[in-house]
Amino acid sequence: MAFVVAIDGPAGTGKGTVAKALAERTHFINIDTGAMYRCVTLECINNGISVQDEDKILQVLEKISINLEHQDGKQKVILNGKDVSQEIRTPEVDDMVAKFAALKIVRDKMTPLQRKMGEENNVIMEGRDIGTVVFPNADVKIFLDCSLEERSRRRYKQNLEKGIESNYQDVLKSIMERHKLETERKIAPFVKAEDAILVDSTNMTIDEVVDTIYSIIKSKIEEKNNGQSNN
Ligand code: C5P
Repeated sequence: MAFVVAIDGPAGTGKGTVAKALAERTHFINIDTGAMYRCVTLECINNGISVQDEDKILQVLEKISINLEHQDGKQKVILNGKDVSQEIRTPEVDDMVAKFAALKIVRDKMTPLQRKMGEENNVIMEGRDIGTVVFPNADVKIFLDCSLEERSRRRYKQNLEKGIESNYQDVLKSIMERHKLETERKIAPFVKAEDAILVDSTNMTIDEVVDTIYSIIKSKIEEKNNGQSNN
């Protein structure tokens, strides 16, 4: 198995930015598993498929193709051959994604795809269940947390920057609802893995978070290399 860094955390912690910066520093591949659940959700919304209609969702899953491409330091999300990097981040997808991600049929399709990606490459994989379900034996497990208010503030600011209309109270409500669905779902609920290292980013800058996690990764790589050369 390649070297796997699992970063789990709730929405709005800056996980995506941190994972991208870490991927650049380590030369590992950044896998945004949330983007994969967003693709399934977008495809269902675009085809008018409701979250109750598991037969139709299965049909979508059977032929879905999701590629995470990396170009000039930017991640491109390609769904069935089309670049949907922007479309998967709309408030509409935000509101529906946790419902689709709670379905067993959806997770049964996504989890093996994610495992395959981590078996073939050194990865920084971010999501909600990477350290608990996808790679319980990951080399490094980080649980990136942040206060609810700060997360909502960051997401609201991100929306403004992207020209997405929203207000702070709606963002806060949407993040709270999503968190409830994610932590209370039956399959792969969002919890901290017992052996994950907690990093609370509430009062940290992105650079501080990246430096903290990078030094954890670096010492683990050295440890692993030393272990291999001693054998
Ligand atoms: O990380 P992001 O907010 O883009 O993830 C979108 C949604 O995908 C989350 O709200 C969560 O419901 C789901 N997700 C998941 N398991 C993962 C990653 C994301 O259930 N590993």
